[in-house]
Amino acid sequence: MNTTTSKSVIYPGSFDPITNGHENVIERSLDLFEKVFVAVAKISSHDKQSLFSSEERTEIIRELFLGQERVQVISFDGLLVDLAKELQTPVIIRGLRAVSDFEYEFQMAQMNRQLQNEVETIFLAPDQQYSFLSSTLVREVATLGGDVSDFVSPLVLKKMSERL
Ligand code: ADP
Repeated sequence: MNTTTSKSVIYPGSFDPITNGHENVIERSLDLFEKVFVAVAKISSHDKQSLFSSEERTEIIRELFLGQERVQVISFDGLLVDLAKELQTPVIIRGLRAVSDFEYEFQMAQMNRQLQNEVETIFLAPDQQYSFLSSTLVREVATLGGDVSDFVSPLVLKKMSERL
């Protein structure tokens, strides 16, 4: 695996559900890399109540990027560095919203480097309007009956209202 020549990148997360912030990170990644593997974690690394199963989360993202051949959606469990090896893609993209994300993201990046030295983590800042947006917040607001149409795409909104 050679980072400097990697044409693809892995964007991992729980995406429960995928928000406009995530989509913004994917679009930005497509400006930099030929291919983006969106890797949907089977089990969320955060301790939170899930809204959609990993199969549903994967299907929703596939539907969103239907026709965009440069985006490939996969679900995974186990170590991210093992996935990186399997996909021959040693570059990981993570979104950084605010300083509050930094500590956890930095720890993860260092741990992944410890586990697999060639794996490089790149941080992308989303457009400013998405910097407060998280899946957790979207789930909470929607569960309490709030309008989340500004934060997720129409397809996600439809799936959420069917679920809630
Ligand atoms: P969340 O933290 O919203 O539950 P994930 O665990 O699915 O989301 O996050 C996957 C990656 O996307 C993480 O690197 C996270 O920091 C990033 N991310 C999540 N929401 C946004 C956003 N609004 N803008 C930029 N990056 C984001």
